[in-house]
Amino acid sequence: MPMLGKTPMMRQYQEIKARYPDTILFFRLGDFYEMFGPDAELASRELEITLTGRDAGLEARVPMCGVPYHAADNYIARLIQKGYKVAICEQIEDPRSARGIVRREVTRVITPGTVVESQMIAAQYSNYLAAVTGRQYAWGLAYCDVSTGDFYAAEFTGPDAENRLKDELFRLSPSEVLLPGEGIKDKTPAFINCPAATYLEKGVFSFRRASQILLEHFGVLSLESFGCTGLTLAVACAGAIIFYLQETQKASPRQIKTLKQYSPDLYLLIDSTTFRNLELTRTMRFNEKKGSLLEIMDKTKTAPGSRLLRQWLEKPLTDKNVLEERLSAVEVLTKQWSQRQTLRKLLEEIYDLERLMTRILYNRAGPRELVSLRNSLAVLPQIKNVLGSLEGSAYLKRLHGELETLDEAYRLLARAIEEDPPYNLNNGGVIRQGYDPQIDDLRSSSRHGKEWIARLESEEKEKTGIKSLKVGFNKVFGYYFEVTKANLSLVPEYFQRKQTLANGERYVTKELLELENQVLGAEEKLLARELEVYNQVLAEIGAAAETLQKTTQVLAQVDVLQSMAELAVQNDYVRPSLLDKEENRLFFRELRHPVVEKLSANNYFVPNDLQFAGDTSLCIITGPNMGGKSTYIRSVALAVVMAQAGSFVPAKEAVISLRDRVFARVGASDDLGSGQSTFMVEMNEVANILRNATPYSLVILDEVGRGTSTYDGLSMAWAVSEYLATVLKTKTLFATHYHELTRLEESYPSIKNLSASVREKGEEIIFLHKIVEGPADRSYGIQVGRLAGLPPEVIGRAEDVLNNMERRHIDGQDNPAAVTRPEQDKEKTAGFVPEDAAGSECLAFLEKMDLLNITPLEALNKLYQLQEMLKKERRGGVEK
Ligand code: ATP
Repeated sequence: MPMLGKTPMMRQYQEIKARYPDTILFFRLGDFYEMFGPDAELASRELEITLTGRDAGLEARVPMCGVPYHAADNYIARLIQKGYKVAICEQIEDPRSARGIVRREVTRVITPGTVVESQMIAAQYSNYLAAVTGRQYAWGLAYCDVSTGDFYAAEFTGPDAENRLKDELFRLSPSEVLLPGEGIKDKTPAFINCPAATYLEKGVFSFRRASQILLEHFGVLSLESFGCTGLTLAVACAGAIIFYLQETQKASPRQIKTLKQYSPDLYLLIDSTTFRNLELTRTMRFNEKKGSLLEIMDKTKTAPGSRLLRQWLEKPLTDKNVLEERLSAVEVLTKQWSQRQTLRKLLEEIYDLERLMTRILYNRAGPRELVSLRNSLAVLPQIKNVLGSLEGSAYLKRLHGELETLDEAYRLLARAIEEDPPYNLNNGGVIRQGYDPQIDDLRSSSRHGKEWIARLESEEKEKTGIKSLKVGFNKVFGYYFEVTKANLSLVPEYFQRKQTLANGERYVTKELLELENQVLGAEEKLLARELEVYNQVLAEIGAAAETLQKTTQVLAQVDVLQSMAELAVQNDYVRPSLLDKEENRLFFRELRHPVVEKLSANNYFVPNDLQFAGDTSLCIITGPNMGGKSTYIRSVALAVVMAQAGSFVPAKEAVISLRDRVFARVGASDDLGSGQSTFMVEMNEVANILRNATPYSLVILDEVGRGTSTYDGLSMAWAVSEYLATVLKTKTLFATHYHELTRLEESYPSIKNLSASVREKGEEIIFLHKIVEGPADRSYGIQVGRLAGLPPEVIGRAEDVLNNMERRHIDGQDNPAAVTRPEQDKEKTAGFVPEDAAGSECLAFLEKMDLLNITPLEALNKLYQLQEMLKKERRGGVEK
């Protein structure tokens, strides 16, 4: 960093900045936070604030910009959102009593992964700080939502460890990732795609140091109780997180009460591509909740509930017992309309207690937030009552038992905090009358002092005869008498002049000064006492943090369950019957797509069935463009995810053998960022599926092989289908326009054809959106092009070309039915023959040539003839 200045203050600045090189330092100067040098240039650009300069004892002025301290949160929030870190440097002694330069220290470093202020993080999203370490076949991960205290650790091992970690990170989308290293960007493994990477000295990630940090933080003797035995990488990451929080918050993260170790394999595995393609929590197009499955499902009433629903959807389960518990709870709530509505109303009163608790523990909760806490606590007994009245669900019964009503905390807040206190403590007025005798006394002195001043005003009016005499107050001069110009002649001698104004003068008297002392002294003491008492209240509430934290978790679960019940009733969903995975059945009657049905006009949606039983493992779905194929296969995948999250599903009947993984490959997209072409991306995705799918997985494929030449693509699609159906035996739904694939059904009993039906009416087509058994014969691409409004000449020309190609289609030679299983005799394994038979005449001609009885000249002539034939064929029209 360049030398910024020689003055003592700039030297102090520079010294502190050197300790926080990768942050923007907010340096407190009076009522402002100032930034200097490169920080100032960056902040002025990012925050659009004026860049000025300050004389710092050097020739050139040092660049400087600043923000008022009372508005700083807003500016900090903007910097954090952009991925910067901000170090807050405060004056830590009273400037009035300081000798020389005021002592300053960084009191907190705010980073994207460590913020807890409600205005800096979205209520509906968890804000994760993650830590990652490892290499190739073994990775550790820990993550924490600092605003709530949720703290998890896991390990990923084996050949696909890196991929699984990548998927997990995609799902979590942490705001900040901690990595071991020296801060060199290109050392970050490519799969860690996070806006803010923070490098910590490698030693922080050492198992010994990390476990020491964790043992001290949790006050335990062994990490066994967290299930972390042997998980050295996971422990290293968890330790790094606690270390980083201690460093940045300058306080112990007391809201983190436990570490939950989890095994990634116990969840329904959804890789990042599938997650994106199914639009579970974000849409592909705009990367936002609106339009996603989550948006449709979210009927929660509280922010923690909404966050938990997202987590359930992101991490569906494979444990049938837990899922049955969830489903039973939802079912009970669907049947109890009145209790459900009461719960929904009561939950509306509940504030984001999870995050508020953390702010209380960090001493950062404002008076209004305590009022929100009080209002939330006020409804807890009623919520407990409603839960107690619900019969038939062990899960709800357990939640009822675990819900603490926190009566003492409620009573404390009711007694201590004003009904409607101001936003902050700066001007007092927060502690309720009658709670603290000292505050009451000081208030009364201050109030009486003011009454005495008012009395003095009327006495002096009388004495001096100045009718307009007024007592005023300002921060610089304190209390004064104000006399207008017209009355100056009436001013008595004992009035001492303090200030001259344009239209009058200000005076004080001995008596007024005495009263002022009383009032101001009392006010200052009052503010100090209010702050002290307020902090005591925070500490008392903080002592109940653990109970409150448990209660908020109970409330979040109740909220998610009522949300699922409300969703099921509003949209006519059914409870799925879950079977063990080994039964390997999937059956849906009148299944709908939960999002598409909501988007369609007049709620028009054609439900469809699916019967995936016995040996059937792959369904090829053909049919017209726009026929509803993609919608159908996605609705199956979504129903499985919903069911394994514990939700009812949009169908009349659903039987689901639990799946271990869901894969969805749809459409094609370039990934130019990582240097992959459309087709390469597609092949990577397919390779991933073929490597990892099991008989208990569900695969949906929306076209495979479209990104290359027709025959290459068709061959790939063919081989992939065979592999999935016969080698992996994975339940697969494959929507395609390769009609040739429908012939697979003839060769394999495990492959079945389905198609989207359509009605033709002259040139028009009507999409019925009904999926029926059997193959479709065409795709109606040209008709769909016409519907989309392509120019008539293009449509006309396309029809000509199509007719031409169909005329040239030589029956028998290009019959895809010729394809048989690989193990069948050689003659039959020739595979399909191209639809386009261009060149076939030439081949026949060549075949007929008698090479043993031909002269070189004749051969040349034949070659010429062949060339001509080929040219003619290319121009169109095979001469027969
Ligand atoms: P393409 O082959 O061109 O990709 P597709 O057969 O996959 O088409 P979809 O994308 O599933 O067709 O559906 C096209 C549109 O038809 C959807 O956006 C939706 O509006 C409507 N649709 C699909 N299925 C149904 C249904 N079952 N009921 C009502 N409308 C439907």
